[in-house]
Amino acid sequence: MKSQWSQAEAEAFVAKYAAEGHNRDLALRVYTTRLLGGDPKLVLHGGGNTSVKTTVTDLLGDSVDVLCVKGSGWDMGNIEPAGLPAVRMAPLAKLRALATLSDEDMVNFQRGNLMDSTSPNPSVETLLHAFLPHKFIDHTHSTAVLSLTDQPDGEAICRALYGKRMGYVPYIMPGFALAKKAAEVFDQDPTVEGLILLKHGIFTFGATAEEAYERMIEMVTLAEDRLQQNRKPAFTPVTLPMQIAPVAEVGPIVRGLLALDQGDGAFKRWVLDFRTNDAIRTYVDGAEVSRYTQVGVVTPDHTIRTKNWPVVLPAPEAGKLAEWTKAAQAAVDAYVTHYHAYFARNNVRANPPKTELDPMPRVVLIPGLGLFGIGASKKDAAIAADIAENTVLSVTDAEAVGTYQPVSEADMFDCEYWSLEQAKLGKGAERALARQVVVVTGGGSGIGAATAKAFAKEGCEVAVLDRDADSAKASAKACAQGTGIKAIGLECDVTDADSVQAAFDEVAATFGGVDIVVSNAGAAWQGTIGEVDEMVIRTSFELNFYGHQSVAQNAVRIMQAQGTGGAILFNTSKQAVNPGKNFGPYGLPKAATLFLMKQYAVDHGKDGIRANAVNADRIRSGLLTAEMIASRSKARGLSEKDYMGGNLLSREVTADDVADAFVYLAKASKTTACTITVDGGNVEASLR
Ligand code: ZN
Repeated sequence: MKSQWSQAEAEAFVAKYAAEGHNRDLALRVYTTRLLGGDPKLVLHGGGNTSVKTTVTDLLGDSVDVLCVKGSGWDMGNIEPAGLPAVRMAPLAKLRALATLSDEDMVNFQRGNLMDSTSPNPSVETLLHAFLPHKFIDHTHSTAVLSLTDQPDGEAICRALYGKRMGYVPYIMPGFALAKKAAEVFDQDPTVEGLILLKHGIFTFGATAEEAYERMIEMVTLAEDRLQQNRKPAFTPVTLPMQIAPVAEVGPIVRGLLALDQGDGAFKRWVLDFRTNDAIRTYVDGAEVSRYTQVGVVTPDHTIRTKNWPVVLPAPEAGKLAEWTKAAQAAVDAYVTHYHAYFARNNVRANPPKTELDPMPRVVLIPGLGLFGIGASKKDAAIAADIAENTVLSVTDAEAVGTYQPVSEADMFDCEYWSLEQAKLGKGAERALARQVVVVTGGGSGIGAATAKAFAKEGCEVAVLDRDADSAKASAKACAQGTGIKAIGLECDVTDADSVQAAFDEVAATFGGVDIVVSNAGAAWQGTIGEVDEMVIRTSFELNFYGHQSVAQNAVRIMQAQGTGGAILFNTSKQAVNPGKNFGPYGLPKAATLFLMKQYAVDHGKDGIRANAVNADRIRSGLLTAEMIASRSKARGLSEKDYMGGNLLSREVTADDVADAFVYLAKASKTTACTITVDGGNVEASLR
């Protein structure tokens, strides 16, 4: 591992943060924390922590010795001074005299000694930093170090490698007891440059930020070099079917198998994140995959993101997915049974007893294919997948030089059900459409773009389809802005069946499936019905009827694979109900689409798939441009405002009003074959 230290960059950090009122120590602490945090082989997603002991001036002008230590909820890779809250050093140091200290008392005491009461909670490993004397302390969960410590004789391997340069701390869950033990190990030989925390990670220290950082890089490099010696081939590959089914077909089935049935047609769904590469394939295709993947996580804080074990499914042979689904279901059922048993046998010693978490895996391994990270959002799924990818590397190296053996099941349970770890996960109620995936066609502008945005605000992951790739991407970007969801923009011509299938496959491969489809793409053609060229009508039917049919068929294909129902929503039009003069070429296919909606409701209610429509009128969009509004209002002798508000309520209807109706229908779990009118009131177009 190469050092990324640059004196010039370090000084730039010092100058930048001096301007914001932070001292040199803290600026350098931010700098090397980011260097460490930027390398996934050292830390991942909130893992690891760093500290610096420095002096700050309080409101009274008194100088106070403090420990600036990584705060909970911050990632090392993009940390700021606010992510390194200052805690008064003297009270922290005194805690070492106590015999025991509960986690709750520890957290409360640390909070009580913050210099800024609005700071995040200092890391759960704060006392370990406080009980050691060094100015700068770095802690990572280095993949290479874990490959060496996670062995039956991990300590002996590390002692042979590092000798007296490092201290060796047995595995203890983070908190007061670990901090005391680490300080004891250090006191036995204060010349050590760091500590190896067996089956957990590595600490290095120094008088300067550079020294602590360079020691981390050196120790990790030694571990990496050690892993290159005496390697044996880690995994023997199994024989796979000749042809493996594609991710786009496998993803929705996996997603369906993991969904938690809440009754009454409701499901707690998951979003998927697929990964594959040579290392992942070698790992998942190994003959002993159900041994080395089922012994546990490489470092206990991964447990909250990945659970202790992934589920291993069979290899999915192309064309035989019905049989595969049964075998995969059996594997998921066995996983759930195993999880319940694990909880029961460990909960007996928990005091007070814990409440069992959901029993579903967060990582799915599929020989012949790769792995899926599983999460309540695309973001969480990607975190699980990142950790799983890292686990592949760690376990592969561990098996190449020995036998992978992490902490015991009881230790993993303590971490999974540790209140302080649970606190790292998002709190609060989920948004109404979280865990769901929506596809919006014609989503690049107008009603489609407004609808995509409305779904994003509800927590839905979004795929915007549009025949114009740039506007699809721009609309997706707007959806992702400030909503925390993932949105993708894809080029799709709904009149081309191949294009529609390809787009839906891409959505399924990206998110694992589809739950809500807003079939919105459309355009208006005009002509007096007795005189219009037949091609005009046929062209309009291609887009305004067959486009909807093609989109809805693809939606059904994926929704059936998931087996968790779904919602298909059509944008019909006032024209479907109330023909306008010379608008036959537009109104006829729209009327057919209104009927199409009813047919989907009739034929697929058995699948839990609901079909509904929104009947909107007079919305500013690509169908009703500013020029059209100007000429039509002029022709009727109305102001533009009166023309746009030409309805019973005299109010202009907007794309956002239509979007709200789509969102409502997506949520209305007991409604199907319904058309909602959003037109300010137009009795001629009212349905009944
Ligand atoms: Zn740690």
